[in-house]
Amino acid sequence: MKFYNSLTRRKEVFTPRFDNKVSMYTCGPTVYHFAHIGNLRSYIMEDVLEKALRYEGYDVTRVMNITDVGHLASDADEGEDKMLKGARREHKTVMEIAQFYTDAFFADCAKLNIKTPDVVEPATNCIDDYIDMVTVLLDKGFAYQAGGNIYFDTTQLKRYYVFNDFQEDDLAVGVREDVDEDTNKRSKADFVLWFTKSKFEDQALKWDSPWGVGYPGWHIECSCISKKHLGEYLDLHCGGIDNMFPHHTNEIAQSESYLGHEWCKYWFHVHHLNTSDGKMSKSKGEFLTVSLLEQKGYDPLVYRLFCLQSHYRKSLVFTWENLDNAVTAYNKLLTRIAALNPDTGAEPNKEAAKPYQEKFQRSLDNDLNTANALSNIYDVLKGKNLDDATKLFLLGDYDTVLSLNLLEGAAKMRQAAKTASASAAADYVITAPADAAPELAEKVHDLLAQRGEARKNKNWAESDRIRDELKAQGIELKDFKGGVSWTKA
Ligand code: AMP
Ligand code: ZN
Repeated sequence: MKFYNSLTRRKEVFTPRFDNKVSMYTCGPTVYHFAHIGNLRSYIMEDVLEKALRYEGYDVTRVMNITDVGHLASDADEGEDKMLKGARREHKTVMEIAQFYTDAFFADCAKLNIKTPDVVEPATNCIDDYIDMVTVLLDKGFAYQAGGNIYFDTTQLKRYYVFNDFQEDDLAVGVREDVDEDTNKRSKADFVLWFTKSKFEDQALKWDSPWGVGYPGWHIECSCISKKHLGEYLDLHCGGIDNMFPHHTNEIAQSESYLGHEWCKYWFHVHHLNTSDGKMSKSKGEFLTVSLLEQKGYDPLVYRLFCLQSHYRKSLVFTWENLDNAVTAYNKLLTRIAALNPDTGAEPNKEAAKPYQEKFQRSLDNDLNTANALSNIYDVLKGKNLDDATKLFLLGDYDTVLSLNLLEGAAKMRQAAKTASASAAADYVITAPADAAPELAEKVHDLLAQRGEARKNKNWAESDRIRDELKAQGIELKDFKGGVSWTKA
């Protein structure tokens, strides 16, 4: 598999350190509010990456943290603690907020068919690990104590800005006008490993440490949680593009200084989903959530399809119109699959399927080109050498990566058509030629029942569409009062 490695800034062949075993780490959500659909774009694309690796036979172990402590309003060390902000907003305790929004996050993931990682670790579970890492960093001279807090000393590193070549003077990130700069820092780029003395006297979660009662900085959790579950070497680390700096830059600084060797070779970053008026943000009052999509009548999987239609390394603009287009595409796709017969009793032809599987894999291998992978579905549907059983087998196979409920959605559609045809049959007569093959007769009957229902509802466009569809297959219709008869040319 080949994908873009943010660390080397080029597409590279992915080679895990140990055979086919992949250790994969994902920065999890900060659980002070619902995830917005931008956050979920990142998790959808990371889910596809994980499933693509599994599709190719890799044995993946994936770990995700849950940030329930230490993430301040800016990604640097300034502003209010996000969890405290959530607790205050809802008059609940920080732990109640964390539990509620962790559950809400996984409920959203389930609706989007995002697989839960093998290990999910809340940051508050690993305090001893942070204390251990900070102690070692202090011992090795990579950290210092100032004003009661412990800071990472970025001047000790040969190269701190590993993803980009910022100069310290350009460091505007996190510096907002309403917060005072932290004068304890020796260098602007230094960051907090452990807070004891801070502006947040009312911090709800505090733990004892060799440096006084306090709480960890945000970045240390990912370095420690990844080491705890995946060991000293990590193959693949993912997150949204905003995580690259300062978060991932700081993770690398901590982990490599602690370990004394290179830590993670491949970095995968998903670009942002934006609204047409700019960045998506949880602090801007009402924001776009999966629940909001559902309230407006959208199937969350339509949003998944919308994400897969674009490349993860391009920013994506969300509009309702764009989502409506995805609804049309999804319905069209399911309708085409529903037209396949799942009951032929034939075994799929695995030999004939193989080149289609290889083609699909090539799409994924090419920097996770999900738009191409979606077009491979149409290649299957159009495949002249494939029977229905093989087509359905291939679509199920692709869906282990795409997770769009292709087969389930189509089955539901078939069932709905049958129910409609049964109710229409009561007062709508459909006459087939006596010598019609049973399989064809059943297919045509279903379509004509749908057409009868459309006519009852005065949906002439749909009625004509079905007539044209049948005509293309050489079937002529003759309407009469209370029914229709058909003949095959
Ligand atoms: P947070 O809950 O703020 O820690 O963010 C969770 C994940 O969502 C991180 O990987 C972020 O990089 C990612 N993220 C944040 N905003 C967006 C966005 N607008 N589009 C895509 N991913 C985002
Ligand atoms: Zn992280």
